[in-house]
Amino acid sequence: MTAELISVGTEILMGNIVNTNAQYLAQQCAMLGLSVYHQTVVGDNEERLSEAVRTALDRSDIVILSGGLGPTEDDLTKEVCAKVMDMPLEEDAHSRRMIEEYFKSIGTKKVTDNNWKQAMVPHGALVLDNHNGTAPGLIMEKNGKTAVLLPGPPVELYPMFKEQVFPYLQKLQPEKFVSRMVKICGVGESKVESQLLDLIDAQTNPTIATYAKVGEVHLRVTARVKNDEEAAALIKPVVKEIRKRFGNAVYTTKEEETLEMAVVRLLAKYELTVTTAESCTGGLLAGRIVNVPGASEVFREGFITYSNKAKRKRLDVNKATLKKYGAVSKETAREMAMGGVFATDADACVAVTGIAGPDGGTEEKPVGLVYISCYMNDNVVVEKYQFSGSRDKIREQAAVKGLDLLRRCILDNYGKS
Ligand code: ATP
Repeated sequence: MTAELISVGTEILMGNIVNTNAQYLAQQCAMLGLSVYHQTVVGDNEERLSEAVRTALDRSDIVILSGGLGPTEDDLTKEVCAKVMDMPLEEDAHSRRMIEEYFKSIGTKKVTDNNWKQAMVPHGALVLDNHNGTAPGLIMEKNGKTAVLLPGPPVELYPMFKEQVFPYLQKLQPEKFVSRMVKICGVGESKVESQLLDLIDAQTNPTIATYAKVGEVHLRVTARVKNDEEAAALIKPVVKEIRKRFGNAVYTTKEEETLEMAVVRLLAKYELTVTTAESCTGGLLAGRIVNVPGASEVFREGFITYSNKAKRKRLDVNKATLKKYGAVSKETAREMAMGGVFATDADACVAVTGIAGPDGGTEEKPVGLVYISCYMNDNVVVEKYQFSGSRDKIREQAAVKGLDLLRRCILDNYGKS
């Protein structure tokens, strides 16, 4: 079945607000297995809205509208749909009661007249209660087509969709999409794709889509199914095969888990503490770890040792090392990580030193050169990277690689992910 979205509101057209409802609704339609081929944004204008609704109903089975259901003059969605679908408005006693109750609950004594406009419902429409506002939602069905009308504010739209519309549409469309995410770090996108080429080429159900992120590749395995058992039967073997091919480079199969969350999870699992010693990332690495709830259990201390003096003073980096090899070198990175552990008595320290640019590069040490090291269990690993892009991008890539090096060191020293 096809669905399409119409977002109503001049403020969206003008760029005053971001159309997050459309993003949410498109994602929900995908989960429902509905094919969305069109999205429209239209202002609060009767003629243009009528045309948009007519066109959408002509070419799609389900049309989901958001916004323009409120009590004011420029809220036209319901009136327009009632006209286009020839379902005249009549007062709905239940909606009137809900509006009365809502105003009572928020302590309003005198309800302004225009609010009763919201109790007018197209003949034969199904009313969706609004527990977070006054404008009820509506489902209108005519000639095999369905229009779903939702209030604009996301705090009203999301729960209404989830609780009332999703189950309704699920019945219309028994098949749905279920997907599982596989997140990979430490292997480039083209390598991931080439190692999965046979699976990607053979795919029908489930399908595999790759998404390149900074320093990471995410794979979404999506199956079109009738129920969760079928989803598990189709998706599990594919995820297992991907895991087999990429081993420890797979850091999670949970949609919501980020790299830093996976790192904090592993540190907590093995009861380890970590310190960071950063030069060019200037706290980015520590910041990402501290962003994770529960980081206080595992994060010992973060050093931002930007100058040579700070590297010497805080991390006891040897003056001779700095002089002979420079601040951006394998040797300095190694001593920074060791110094971080000795200064704080943590189980591990990740250190980053590099040239983020745009200035400061030489032929021998170009912009983007970054050394990342991790000290753990009397052993230091140092990795050399040559990143490209802007200063921000280089620093971000370095932070990702720092997190990933720590993750891999934990796995090498302590076990599996
Ligand atoms: P209300 O009862 O608040 O009048 P409504 O259904 O008439 O609801 P609108 O007046 O169109 O909705 O929008 C109300 C507010 O909802 C907007 O100011 C905006 O903050 C938010 N909103 C509307 N449409 C969207 C959208 N597509 N994406 C995100 N937010 C939106």
